[in-house]
Amino acid sequence: MAKKKEDEKKKEEEGCWEKGSCKDPDLFGPLFRMPNKGQFKFSLWYFLITLFVLLLINSLFVPAPESLVGFSDFKKKIEQGEIVKVQMGENFYYGFTESTGERGRGGTVYRTVPINDPTFIQLMDAKGVSYMKISEKGNAFINFLLTWVVPFFFFFFIWRLMFQRMGNMGSNVLALGRNRAAIVAEGTTGVSFNDVAGCDEAKEELMEVVDFLKNPGKYTRIGGKIPKGVLLVGPPGTGKTLLAKAVAGEAGVPFFRISGSDFVEMFVGVGAARVRDLFRQAREKAPCIIFIDELDAIGKSRVNVLGGNEEREQTLNQLLVEMDGFDSRTGVIILAATNRPEILDPALLRAGRFDRQILVDRPDLAGREAILRIHAKGVKLAPDVDLHKVARDTPGFVGSDLANLVNEAALLAVRNGRSEVTQADFSEAIEKVIAGLQKKNRLISPDQKRIVAYHEAGHALVAAFTEGADPVRKITIVPRGIGALGYTLQIPTEDKFLMTEKELYSRIDTLLGGRAAEELVFGTVSTGAANDLVKVSDIAKRMVTEYGMSPKFRNVALNQRQPALLGPTAEAPQMYRDYSDATQSYIDETIASIVNERYAQVKKLLEEKRPLLEKLASRLLESETIEEHEFAQLIKESA
Ligand code: ADP
Ligand code: MG
Ligand code: ZN
Repeated sequence: MAKKKEDEKKKEEEGCWEKGSCKDPDLFGPLFRMPNKGQFKFSLWYFLITLFVLLLINSLFVPAPESLVGFSDFKKKIEQGEIVKVQMGENFYYGFTESTGERGRGGTVYRTVPINDPTFIQLMDAKGVSYMKISEKGNAFINFLLTWVVPFFFFFFIWRLMFQRMGNMGSNVLALGRNRAAIVAEGTTGVSFNDVAGCDEAKEELMEVVDFLKNPGKYTRIGGKIPKGVLLVGPPGTGKTLLAKAVAGEAGVPFFRISGSDFVEMFVGVGAARVRDLFRQAREKAPCIIFIDELDAIGKSRVNVLGGNEEREQTLNQLLVEMDGFDSRTGVIILAATNRPEILDPALLRAGRFDRQILVDRPDLAGREAILRIHAKGVKLAPDVDLHKVARDTPGFVGSDLANLVNEAALLAVRNGRSEVTQADFSEAIEKVIAGLQKKNRLISPDQKRIVAYHEAGHALVAAFTEGADPVRKITIVPRGIGALGYTLQIPTEDKFLMTEKELYSRIDTLLGGRAAEELVFGTVSTGAANDLVKVSDIAKRMVTEYGMSPKFRNVALNQRQPALLGPTAEAPQMYRDYSDATQSYIDETIASIVNERYAQVKKLLEEKRPLLEKLASRLLESETIEEHEFAQLIKESA
């Protein structure tokens, strides 16, 4: 029996990372073991519990509000008859008023440091105050307990916790076995690219990564460089974690998976040590993949009770150092995922780090159908089930929502005593899931969707009929990230190092097309164009001030410049202008008139092409995405 246990222990210390069965070593003792891995939060619990106990003891033994008064005041209060009873202790005298009971529950107890005053007793006698000598021994004992023993235990506990954590991290070879456990590693994940759908572009890019891991020689022989770090960016539930697993599964290499929040520890230095150790192990097992899920947990400061920022910074620095310190030819590739790229530390995105970003978007209609098919594989479907229709009814759903949906439908079927899932089950499940998502504010309403469809159709249409505009590659109303409800993708046919005046105007026109379409169709405008307008104003301003394209200041640069002599330490980075206030108002007016003029032009164009606009919008509402060739087809048909 004991032997068996020992064997198991040994196994844990040796190579169990391959099986991914490792658990974090027991830091708290069995009594306090939590089922999940939220150790950090848990140590906070200790703090709170101890605090609570201290407060409890305090409230039990220390009398209610005491007010410390000077001895002369104390006497005065006796003279005035306010204090009617006095307890005389060694260190303090306590004076009680009528309203305060024994040792003062309710009301105030006056406390004073006694002065040797022979008339004091006479005064009390004269006032008829009852007085008694008390021993403060009991109280002193509790005081002792509170001031020495309890804090001692409290700090001892923290110290022990810290010591054990540190011990884990040390360079001690024996300790590494335990440390290794902090990294969840899965040899092969059993997930393949076939298990992921609806994000084909991301899949394609990741296949390249897989190919590198499979035949590194192919790339290194030519001297090609594979990016060290690949960052998966996309909304929650779109399958980033799943994709990373698929990469490891397809490549058949060890896969070290760790969540960013695992690095963020209470004690400074621990996270950094974990990073160091993670990379050390990875180098030993190369080729392999390190996957850091929820990178934003390290990449951004978070508010912690004890030194959170310092710890995070150290961890982040260590990560940067490790990423810089190794060569991608070693065969270690770092994948990371985040749904908030905008809060990441810019240092992470610099060259040689996570310099390749892969967007994992919300799936469109076809994507949703494909995802549904994957998840419906294990479910018995009735013949009447039409997954295409289900996909149509679930705009805005991401992969995890769809997985959830299939599961809900199956549960409903079981509840209704059926052995197959019917279309009705799906319909009911959709309603249920939508209600849940609407509560979380994750879906846009059909009205809003209509606005977005016309807006994007407007951009695309103007681009198609404006000379010099970049061709439209894709229009979609699948919400993307935060803020953008849809987008029209234009890719220039060639690299542009300079732009003609005409091209600048065409860009302004295209950008204004969204809002103009909204106004034309709905008679009002929305906030959805805010981003477009920022770009429009920027272009117009540059045309007037930098490119010398205004009528009055044709070929004149009206630049603002930063004062040359003042360094970055200058308090207010004031801009200096080379021109007068009158010119400034001319600039403002010219920008406005350029934009107004173009807007009128664009609106006229859209009015002329109204039937095509309607067609594009309804096509978008139907399938959410219009690809390049289909767009070209629609334009050609209308001509
Ligand atoms: P993320 O990491 O982007 O938040 P996950 O990868 O954790 O999303 O997805 C959660 C679950 O949702 C997956 O385990 C899978 O069952 C399902 N899922 C998400 N996206 C997809 C997808 N594109 N294809 C198939 N299943 C998906
Ligand atoms: Mg995830
Ligand atoms: Zn727009």
